[in-house]
Amino acid sequence: MVTLDTLLLITDTLGIKVKFKDLNRNHIGLLGKADANKRKVVLDNSLKFCMREQKCILSEEIGHILYPPRPGHIAYHARGYYDIDNIERSIIKVTVAQDERRALDWATNALIPDVEFWRAVEEGENILYQLADWFEVTEWFMRIKIGYIRRKALDNGTRLKWNDIIRRN
Ligand SMILES: [Zn+2]
Repeated sequence: MVTLDTLLLITDTLGIKVKFKDLNRNHIGLLGKADANKRKVVLDNSLKFCMREQKCILSEEIGHILYPPRPGHIAYHARGYYDIDNIERSIIKVTVAQDERRALDWATNALIPDVEFWRAVEEGENILYQLADWFEVTEWFMRIKIGYIRRKALDNGTRLKWNDIIRRN
């Protein structure tokens, strides 16, 4: 399991600066933003007290810096964003969805390597919240990882159903 300390060490190694600010004051619900040119991530103060959410948002912001959307673009992330499902999101804007996917692929692989994901499932951790607990990530983040696993399987010609991976609570 990748701890927040480890992630901060990775961030440091990549030369990415992290700052906390009261982002919510000007944008209600804003949790984080990434500026690829300045290699800078800003997280909302509220994340100081939610370690799991901080880990997930931070790793996604790192993903945006490593795979910048387009020059000068700043990625913003607000609360509730992850409740919209992928399809709706991709209808909103295909290019944005693609940028998001690359950032989230990096983020989910950093915090939940495939090999460790399958090991956890084999250990019997096959309910969403159990898997989220195992890796100390949020449930929305784990849902994105499972989406990634399914997409990857499909690329290899295997149609994996949600139920083939996890049980309903
Ligand atoms: Zn993003």
